[in-house]
Amino acid sequence: MSKKVRVRFAPSPTGGLHLGGVRTVLYNYLFAKKHGGDFILRIEDTDQTRYVPGAEEYIFNCLKWTGLEPDESPQHGGEYGPYRQSERKADYRQYAEQLVKDGHAYYAFDTPEDLEKMRTDFKTDHNPSPQYDHSIRMKMRNSLNLTAGEVKQLLDAGTKHDIRIKMPENETVSFTDMIRSEVSFETSLVDDKVLLKADGMPTYHLAVVVDDYLMKITHAFRGEEWLPSAPVHVLLWKYLFGLENMPQWAHLPLILGPNGKLSKRDGAKYGFPVFAMSWTDPKTAELTEGFKEKGFLPEAFINLLALLGWNDGTEQEIFTKEELIEKFSIERVHSGGAKFDYEKGKWFNHEWIKRSAIQNLKYEVRKLFAEKGITDTNDALMDKIIGLVKDRCTLLTDFYDQSVFFFKTPEQYDLNAVKPKWNETKQLFFAEVIRNFELSNDWNAQTLENNFKEIASINQIKPGDVLLPLRVMLVGGKFGPGVFDIAEVIGRDETIIRITKALSAFNAG
Ligand code: GLU
Repeated sequence: MSKKVRVRFAPSPTGGLHLGGVRTVLYNYLFAKKHGGDFILRIEDTDQTRYVPGAEEYIFNCLKWTGLEPDESPQHGGEYGPYRQSERKADYRQYAEQLVKDGHAYYAFDTPEDLEKMRTDFKTDHNPSPQYDHSIRMKMRNSLNLTAGEVKQLLDAGTKHDIRIKMPENETVSFTDMIRSEVSFETSLVDDKVLLKADGMPTYHLAVVVDDYLMKITHAFRGEEWLPSAPVHVLLWKYLFGLENMPQWAHLPLILGPNGKLSKRDGAKYGFPVFAMSWTDPKTAELTEGFKEKGFLPEAFINLLALLGWNDGTEQEIFTKEELIEKFSIERVHSGGAKFDYEKGKWFNHEWIKRSAIQNLKYEVRKLFAEKGITDTNDALMDKIIGLVKDRCTLLTDFYDQSVFFFKTPEQYDLNAVKPKWNETKQLFFAEVIRNFELSNDWNAQTLENNFKEIASINQIKPGDVLLPLRVMLVGGKFGPGVFDIAEVIGRDETIIRITKALSAFNAG
């Protein structure tokens, strides 16, 4: 029987969750759901110097908003907890000690000053930033270099020490990446990474391997930036747990801007975090607006992320979450960088707003109105307005501009659209329209349109010549849904007020 699929997203709580992070979540989630497996969220908080308070909460809120909730996590619980590495601290030392015992790791007693000295002493033109590696380790203060007695004495005295992996020399470490196929690394080029720090905390490298093992992870998907660390992880798997238990790896492609690598400025401009953050993003040193605040729908956000590096082999671009679960396969993720184009992202959102049920949009639209002081939004009215304007909105925030005229009489008019062709005939026509509308028994779009066209025909005016002025009268400019629909919604009195008010503006000057 094949093992139950278990995947994990393992963020470090060091800041906001950005595009790439959520895409990693999404691919993990889709893969787990497709295979009836479990999606685990593990907080990798062993590097206390980079810890940002609030970041963990932020990550959970993002997952909630996107609907990509884990099955197991510090908040959801699960059999394999605790799911915060800082709470698993006691577990790691034994593995590091085991590696020392087996000759794959060693105690390093070097002080920060020793390390600093190493970096200057061994610096050459050829090697400007020397690393603690096989060429240098025998010149340092560690258990490879000291006698057993000296080591014992240091340990007994409680001397602070790291445990470092002893990278083999001249070995090739290979593994099969689900996206990149066979990948190989020369071990001599990799430094002796610290596995356990002097404070007893593991580094990411040790913790990720131990926890993937203890949590029975079957597949590990993560960003391409972790590929250089993969040989260390593969060796740790080999030394500690045997390669046959190692998860299958997939390193996801980088996300690039339209012109190459995503810059910090792109991030600020396009709101790469999911939400605005309550802290300054350490990566951009500024407060950034997120996709949510920019007016994206979670459905659209997931959809656009899915396509950043994956497609199903057809031209299809709009996918629901259920379709993604059905069609997603990690082998179809490409290895080359995925270009993120914000304008294309907006296109996805527009498509999703169009497809969304009114019910699905109401809460956010009402909130947007409330923020702008419009609270007179009963349910029936909201249903009508959203139904009328949703096809015209790219971002949720557009709902305001696209429908504010339902609540407010225009203060200004696009006179250029009307004035050049304004004349007395039209003036008289609208005076008649007002009279007709005042008497109309039936206040609905169809009747209003019929009456309007009839008056035009009697006066030998082409309806097209008076429809635009009517629109400008009701909304102020050349935009908005069907003009008679607008009249129906704002009601008789308000329609007549607007026509009358606009007539004086059009006639003036
Ligand atoms: N803690 C790592 C991160 O912050 C996780 C990398 C991995 O998934 O192995 O991205």
